[in-house]
Amino acid sequence: MAQIVLLAGDGIGPEIMAQAGRVLEAVNARFGLGIVTSEHLIGGAAIDATGEPLPEATLAAAKAADAVLLGAVGGPKWDGLPMANRPEKGLLKIRAGMNLFANLRPALLYPELASASTLKPEVVSGLDLLIVRELIGGIYFGEPRGIEGEPGQRVGFNTDRYSEPEIERIGRIAFEAAMTRDRRLCSVDKANVLEVTVLWREVMTRLSAEYPEVELSHMYVDNAAMQLVRAPKQFDVMVTGNLFGDILSDAAAMLTGSIGMLPSASMNSDNQGLYEPCHGSAPDIAGQDVANPLATILSVAMLLTHSLKAPEAALAIETAVKSVLAQRLRTADIATGASGERVVGCQAMGDAVVNAL
Ligand code: NAD
Repeated sequence: MAQIVLLAGDGIGPEIMAQAGRVLEAVNARFGLGIVTSEHLIGGAAIDATGEPLPEATLAAAKAADAVLLGAVGGPKWDGLPMANRPEKGLLKIRAGMNLFANLRPALLYPELASASTLKPEVVSGLDLLIVRELIGGIYFGEPRGIEGEPGQRVGFNTDRYSEPEIERIGRIAFEAAMTRDRRLCSVDKANVLEVTVLWREVMTRLSAEYPEVELSHMYVDNAAMQLVRAPKQFDVMVTGNLFGDILSDAAAMLTGSIGMLPSASMNSDNQGLYEPCHGSAPDIAGQDVANPLATILSVAMLLTHSLKAPEAALAIETAVKSVLAQRLRTADIATGASGERVVGCQAMGDAVVNAL
């Protein structure tokens, strides 16, 4: 049996989650995965019901589950609350509470959507890369940190710090991911300037002896940023620290041009994961049945691959998504106005994926 916690959240969250839930049911039935789901509160919906963005019961259920599927949190209704009580705090707390140190963000450009990218179709068509970002260490968390000194002379400082075990555990996730793909891993650092990344490079190189089938390369982050927009198809898997990963994963996401298509996973060392679309709660279109559910549906595929180790079920979902795109069904965010396209709502897109399954 596999336990999955569903957290719909706010805005378009409940709409996209409803469609992802149907897809999950469909693969569960077809592949006999023994999945049991339970629904819990997070974000603004949780604040309204309990006063807390992450109720104890939600965190307890998430920790006990094999995986968590999340819609999105936040919205104007809660924007006036103090920072510590905002819906987004629920997300940060659940990531920390589940010790989710590895963030996996694929950037996959479906050939049918090549014209949605800001780069030339020939540069991005067929793009399929995965960025593995360390999520709970590095300069965002390193101590000491602060702003000190007399007014006018103050100094601001942060510490970029990674231990060998921290580098090794994110490295393993990246090598394992590369083993399931094209077996090429590019580790991104700034080893010409920063000692912390000299150590990063050393540990990645040492780890590569355990994965002889994976071709490891190293790249300085400034060059990686340039290569990502110059020739992004050269990459298969990229692994990097928290700060560089934050920036590079957003740049990679934009290469695909369609925020409604991008899934993500955040994992811990027990293969437990939180799976969610890269986009937010889109309050501007909530409740109108126009949101694109495909990023959430593709997050289900990531969940099946990484937490449930059911790659054939994941592939079935990915194939179903490709087939609805090939049928030229489009939600409004990915419609280009080309002839033959049929613009559909959130529910109809979910129907199409379930039918294709
Ligand atoms: P957003 O991603 O919600 O929306 C940005 C734009 O993209 C909007 O025009 C929206 O309509 C569109 N969009 C997003 N997802 C879409 C989808 N699936 N289908 C079609 N169009 C889609 O970002 P924002 O407007 O900056 O933030 C809105 C709220 O979401 C804020 O409260 C923010 O804090 C929150 N947020 C939450 C998460 C999360 O839950 N992980 C992430 C980012 C932002």
